[in-house]
Amino acid sequence: MVAEKAADSTKEAKKQMDVLSSTQAVVKNALEKLGYPDEVYELLKEPLRMMTVRIPIKMDDGSTKIFTGYRAQHNDAVGPTKGGIRFHPDVTETEVKALSMWMSLKAGIVDLPYGGGKGGIICDPRDMSFRELEALSRGYVRAISQIVGPTKDIPAPDVFTNSQIMAWMMDEYSRMDEFNSPGFITGKPIVLGGSHGRESATAKGVTICINEAAKKRNMSVKGAKVIVQGFGNAGSFLSKFLHDEGAIVVGISDAYGALYDPEGLDIDYLLDRRDSFGTVTKLFNNTISNKELLESECDILVPAAVENQITEDNAHNIKASIVVEAANGPTTMEATKILTERGILLVPDVLASAGGVTVSYFEWVQNNQGYYWSEEEVEEKLYATMIKAFNAIYDTAQTRQVDMRLAAYMVGVRKMAEASRFRGWV
Ligand code: GLU
Repeated sequence: MVAEKAADSTKEAKKQMDVLSSTQAVVKNALEKLGYPDEVYELLKEPLRMMTVRIPIKMDDGSTKIFTGYRAQHNDAVGPTKGGIRFHPDVTETEVKALSMWMSLKAGIVDLPYGGGKGGIICDPRDMSFRELEALSRGYVRAISQIVGPTKDIPAPDVFTNSQIMAWMMDEYSRMDEFNSPGFITGKPIVLGGSHGRESATAKGVTICINEAAKKRNMSVKGAKVIVQGFGNAGSFLSKFLHDEGAIVVGISDAYGALYDPEGLDIDYLLDRRDSFGTVTKLFNNTISNKELLESECDILVPAAVENQITEDNAHNIKASIVVEAANGPTTMEATKILTERGILLVPDVLASAGGVTVSYFEWVQNNQGYYWSEEEVEEKLYATMIKAFNAIYDTAQTRQVDMRLAAYMVGVRKMAEASRFRGWV
């Protein structure tokens, strides 16, 4: 059992190493295609700063547990770094590094005045009480306080963190700072300076990309069969938006299993029954595995869970003609190649999931100016941003004859490379 667990964590570490090295390989390729010298790649291949913290927390049973957390700041040439904080048992330093690089690329793609950052704590919030989670959230902010701030590095939600956790973190920072600092963090509850539309922003952005991709393939989203892997923040809102648009959501999943029905699932019922971590399949007997779900019949596949889901092992069996990545890093480099060769249109994570950070930026702008926008205003701005980004990347892919991932990296890396050059760093 112990040996099995050790083998599992070695496998997980190797996978995350692959995630970082394949991200580096695409960044290198993108910079070469843009004609930048190798020193620009040397600067951008790793985060500028990486902080590891250990956070002691008094648990409900009276014991003290020490949690390990990270904050990576990839590059702040363009502006303060920005990116979420994930609470997950599989968090590693390598993963956080890769995630911070993806945030830099997203910021470049949707043209925000930010660089990328990311944080993570190794923990399982599904097994923790509310009080323990509050203590951990506050402890993490105290531990990283020297390197974060509204004009330095602005955190946000990510896997298994939500607006309540952002509220505790904002409160802790405001107490230390002795000012009310809503601009310290985004994804807050509306009453604490959160923005309308932030909670559903990632899913809205993905929906816009799905519609644009479908147009390119002369396909109608109405009536299309869709599989959404993952029923967390992105996956659940997305299933709802697509269902409301007339798509037939034939498959969904959570960490424990998947549901598939070729006639379409009752999305409203499933949304009603999911818990706050997106778990719902435990209520059913007729589940299939996540692996089976990915290979099931559909027109559009949306991986909206975790990394490394579409690999060289299953890429040949994907039935969809459009794959839109709502999760960060769900498709490996080998699988990207296979899908592209098979003529499948792959809309990459750094573009498709950029709606979240876009509305986070709107939230930060509203906090800085102290004047708040309506939901319609936010939606309009998000729509314009995503359409522009999608088309810039689609056109780059066409004119440069590259896949959409490489095109997205080319668009995403340019501003950061230019800013670093103007600052005299390279
Ligand atoms: N965690 C989200 C992401 O991966 C959002 C980050 C943000 O809003 O700053 O894009």
